[in-house]
Amino acid sequence: MTTHREPLSSVLETIGETPLVRVHDSPDAVPVYAKLETFNPGASVKDRIGKHMLERMLERGDVGEGGTVVEPTAGNTGIGIAVAAKQLGLDAVFVVPERFSVEKQQLMRALGAEVVNTPSEDGMGFAIDRAHEIADELDDAVVPQQFSNPLNAEAHYETTAPEIDEALDGEVGAVVAGVGTGGTLMGTARYFRERDPDTCVVAVEPEGSAYREFLGEEVDHGAYKTEGIGTHDISRNELFDPDLVDDILTVPDRAVHEEMGRLAAEEGQLVASSAAANAIAAKRVAREVRDGDIDAPHDAVVTIFCDSSERYLSKGVYRSFEEWEG
Ligand code: PMP
Repeated sequence: MTTHREPLSSVLETIGETPLVRVHDSPDAVPVYAKLETFNPGASVKDRIGKHMLERMLERGDVGEGGTVVEPTAGNTGIGIAVAAKQLGLDAVFVVPERFSVEKQQLMRALGAEVVNTPSEDGMGFAIDRAHEIADELDDAVVPQQFSNPLNAEAHYETTAPEIDEALDGEVGAVVAGVGTGGTLMGTARYFRERDPDTCVVAVEPEGSAYREFLGEEVDHGAYKTEGIGTHDISRNELFDPDLVDDILTVPDRAVHEEMGRLAAEEGQLVASSAAANAIAAKRVAREVRDGDIDAPHDAVVTIFCDSSERYLSKGVYRSFEEWEG
């Protein structure tokens, strides 16, 4: 792993090469490891796609220096894009449904971006349409659109997955990750399935989310507090490939809340709700591998800790379940 002891020329060089850390509350025989994406400069997994998408789009001429990136985002992608945008000579505008964390919106503004809010009840679909309207009104603007942009998954195929592979000397048995756009899981899954077609791949979503409709299941749509993963409209997602997943696990908010507290109190991990959902699901997969219910080529189960709980303190993540606003 790169130690970054040498002086670096820009914060962009600190993206990636994040630590892979054992989750202690997992079966001995089948360890669970989490990739700590909080170590990125924007403190989430989305710094990887911010850098990768903008660099590639500039190379391809989708946008020129001095142009604008407009992106509909729940927040972390905005922060990731904003970290990269200024360094690459681009302006950034983000369309964010109101309900998402105020900390994230403050960070996007601090990084020099403009934030346009849309009504929460109109959902992410409305924010996507609004982003395109804004881009159409500007001279040189591009909408990366993480929900349909293959560069999103490619960032993880080229960086996240090989880093995990190297850290575990190629002994990855299963990959478990929450799906927002699905970029993290799809890019990582594609890499490991190419190495070994038997690698187990499991998606994670909150109870109330509709990803299981991709598997032909009927789903009761409902609200959930877990932030950054799940969907209510699978037609908006062009990245998720159900053929690449063995299963989609559903995690209820109450268990997520409890696991967030446990990870902090017992493991020193100040990570947010999607990381807790991933930990729960990864431990479930590890038990099934141990019991022979899942036939994985190796023992290690890998998951992602996507961002930090500090980003959600105002939402009461460490208060009681009832007080957690989600
Ligand atoms: N966790 C958090 C906190 C996120 O912001 C996101 C992205 N929406 C994810 C998980 C899911 O990542 P992906 O979009 O790559 O599926």
